[in-house]
Amino acid sequence: MGPRTSALSSSITTCTRPHADLTAATDDLRHRLTAVVGLTEPDAATVAAPLVRLAVIFGNRPFTLLEQARDELRVDRPAFRRLLDIFSQVPELRTAVESGPAGKYWRNTVLPLERRCAVEAALRHEPVFPRIVGLYPGLTCMFRCHFCVRVTGARYEASLLDSGTALLASVIDELPRDNPDATYLSGGLEPLTNPKVGTLASRAAARGQRVTIYTNAFALTDQTLRHQPGLWDLHAVRVSLYGLDDEEYEATTGKRKAFERVRANLRHFQKLRAERGSPVRLGMTYLVLPGRAARLLDLVDFIADLNEAAPDRPIDFLNVREDYSSRPDGALSPDERAELRDSLGRFEARALDRAPTLSIDFGYALESMRMGMDAEMIRIRPETMRPSAHPQIAVQVDLRGDVYLYREAGFPDLAGADRYIAGRIGPDTSLAEVVRNFVASGRRIAAQPGDEYFMDGFDQAVTARLNQLTTDRADGWGDARGFLR
Ligand code: SF4
Repeated sequence: MGPRTSALSSSITTCTRPHADLTAATDDLRHRLTAVVGLTEPDAATVAAPLVRLAVIFGNRPFTLLEQARDELRVDRPAFRRLLDIFSQVPELRTAVESGPAGKYWRNTVLPLERRCAVEAALRHEPVFPRIVGLYPGLTCMFRCHFCVRVTGARYEASLLDSGTALLASVIDELPRDNPDATYLSGGLEPLTNPKVGTLASRAAARGQRVTIYTNAFALTDQTLRHQPGLWDLHAVRVSLYGLDDEEYEATTGKRKAFERVRANLRHFQKLRAERGSPVRLGMTYLVLPGRAARLLDLVDFIADLNEAAPDRPIDFLNVREDYSSRPDGALSPDERAELRDSLGRFEARALDRAPTLSIDFGYALESMRMGMDAEMIRIRPETMRPSAHPQIAVQVDLRGDVYLYREAGFPDLAGADRYIAGRIGPDTSLAEVVRNFVASGRRIAAQPGDEYFMDGFDQAVTARLNQLTTDRADGWGDARGFLR
């Protein structure tokens, strides 16, 4: 690609960004359409602007319906069909969508699932094995986070430890060998409260799985690591951080002096993995809660401080998230959002300086904010939940063997969550059978107010995508459904 061509490309590939020069992008696209696609000058001049507009729509609002997009472009169906055909012949336009403010949805969730055909299987109600299986081995949790749906005091009976862990092991034995990312250990409750969770990590690793454990790290102690050597077979440990000092931890989790303990555990873990030359990755998720937007710079210092415990094995990754569960107490105030927006640049600069190897992921909302705009968030409501859910894409299994259809439903005694159990595995019933029976039964779940909280961000994105594809198909856009695939 020569310098002129490259300049043309870059104005097109960045046209979805806020404040992009759309006139330049349209001009450059016109040139590409004549040179590469073979359109005549007048033809290229007519279609270039609507093509750029299409990229902007789907780079910012990935779940837009094709008929909505057509409406915004004010073109008839044949003209729209032609635009879609031409769009697919210009790779720079696709890049513009995938790297736009909503690109995370495309890159992280929608396109990988489309490539695996899991989305199509869900649309067709096919009884296929779930693409992703969450294992929820925790018996209880030592925290009581104010935003967590878990029922205070509810836990799994200790007598389930052996039988429940064996059930989860049997699920691991069912995982397809051609998908190394088919499972993870999480909750539900805190997975490290299961004293046998290391055996699950080893078993999954032996089956070729790259397993991440999602933990609060309170129990990631030296004793745990000695008693559970299987934890060293994990691919990654992802720690949910609930504050940056004891007071913040207590305010969020209800547990006193928890921060210092988590910090000591992380330091020790880092030292041990450096000494062992262990490939386990270590990273964190930091949720920016109301009142904490100003703490991002301290977060970098916290990580840099941890890195001093093992300079050759610094923390690998950090996910910064805004709570967009749509709970009233999760939202940041407009002032705080403005503060957060202003501090993101300083945060990145400080991270580059103090933790240069740290891989930072901002998630959808903050990624958009970083690009200088407020993302339009997906908001699945009970009326837009899918009565058939999406077990072909993901399910979660707890210690009772219950197979949950949504990620935030797998907590003991959670009111209404039992309606989202597809079935129960057992010594004589495999996960594949549970899913097959659920799908074959044609069971439909009528959502009730509040049910949307059983879904996490992934479930919401998947539901939005499936709804989009269903409507596009019903609107007669079957072969073009979903815009990008
Ligand atoms: S969010 Fe996680 S750590 Fe907090 S109470 Fe719920 S299960 Fe426990």
